[in-house]
Amino acid sequence: VSIEVLAVGDELLSGATLETNSNWIARALFESGLDLGRVTIVGDDAAPLADAVAAALTRARVLIVTGGLGPTLDDRTKEIVAAHLGDPLELDAATLEDIRDRFARRGLVMSEVNTKQALLPRGGTRIPNPIGSAPGVHWQRDGREIFLLPGVPREMQAMMQATVLPRVAALYPEVPPRRAIFRTVGLPESELAQRLLPLTNANDAIGWAFYPGTDGVDVRLRSSLDAVAWDAVRDGVRSTAGAYIYSETAGETLAAVVLHALRARNWTFVTAESCTGGFVSQRVTDVPGSSTVFRGGFVTYANAAKVAWLGVSEELLAAHGAVSAAVAVAMARGARARAESDVAIAVTGIAGPDGGTPEKPVGLIYFGLATAAGCWTRRLQLGPDRDTNRRYSSQLALDMVRRHLQGLPAGEPA
Ligand code: ATP
Ligand code: MG
Repeated sequence: VSIEVLAVGDELLSGATLETNSNWIARALFESGLDLGRVTIVGDDAAPLADAVAAALTRARVLIVTGGLGPTLDDRTKEIVAAHLGDPLELDAATLEDIRDRFARRGLVMSEVNTKQALLPRGGTRIPNPIGSAPGVHWQRDGREIFLLPGVPREMQAMMQATVLPRVAALYPEVPPRRAIFRTVGLPESELAQRLLPLTNANDAIGWAFYPGTDGVDVRLRSSLDAVAWDAVRDGVRSTAGAYIYSETAGETLAAVVLHALRARNWTFVTAESCTGGFVSQRVTDVPGSSTVFRGGFVTYANAAKVAWLGVSEELLAAHGAVSAAVAVAMARGARARAESDVAIAVTGIAGPDGGTPEKPVGLIYFGLATAAGCWTRRLQLGPDRDTNRRYSSQLALDMVRRHLQGLPAGEPA
């Protein structure tokens, strides 16, 4: 069963570095249909590190250790694991040559302390490090596999991908082969789970997982059901939550989906943002190649900017207030006209923590969508947290565009 990760480093315990290696490994294993059983974090001190290694090896079939392969004295992972396994370290001439070359290529002379990184255990094998100096180590012992990897996330990831993941996947040929992801936006996790309850109850041969975030909720499924039953379950999810699903590809963003759909129609796009302060444009420009579709964005925070840059009328602002359906629509209309775009999306709201009133509480957000076919508006009441409100409403703005492009209801006609 069990695969464990042991993350080593004082910086992880002092709070100086956020421990992300185990998270990356967890995702990578999950993508391969494998479960991570436990994560341990220890500092660089020899005794706790040795204890943690010993304890993990009483449980785990696979132990992945990251960190502490560096050249300095506080990096002793390799020494401690080798000692635990009773395996002597020996200088590996080829590895030493490699490390020397790596320094020479950058016009540097290798420091003597780096010699330590060329020590390899007699009973283990070396895991090549394609981007750094410290090689990893792999042992097979009594039906267990131990992998030592550097702590530097990029190096750890490269070595996981090239060497460790294929090896670990081969150890578990029986893993469930079928996986799916549904990326959703617009429904809270609890409501999505409620709607899917008939499906989750009827299919306990499936592992269901809900991952909420400010992009929406990802629903992940995996199972060893036969193909017909599996297709039926996925169709069930689509017919229950279809309008809320923007992608079935892991890592594909809503912005990418929207840009793709706009490009397919040869439509250009502009944003007019108030409370989101540019987050919508940021999401859009995170996608490579967005310039073929995205004209730009107006961040019109002050009323005067809404008037001057978007042509929103002062009377409208005075009558309805900046946070209103009428102003959201006027912002979208103005942005669309001034940027000569096919589609404009506008967001205006009260992000918090201050600025709320009984009529217009914190978290009240209005969206406006303008296209050649007309304008639509949406009102949403989010919660008290500024950061969440800004991030989630920037995603919901894009979702209004997606819905329009897919022929789904995008809001009230305006
Ligand atoms: P190096 O050869 O670079 O010294 P190392 O194996 O000794 O590699 P560390 O010294 O432990 O690795 O860490 C190198 C860098 O990677 C540090 O900046 C550290 O904060 C970061 N790092 C280490 N472990 C983790 C982790 N689990 N999650 C995120 N970052 C990490
Ligand atoms: Mg370290």
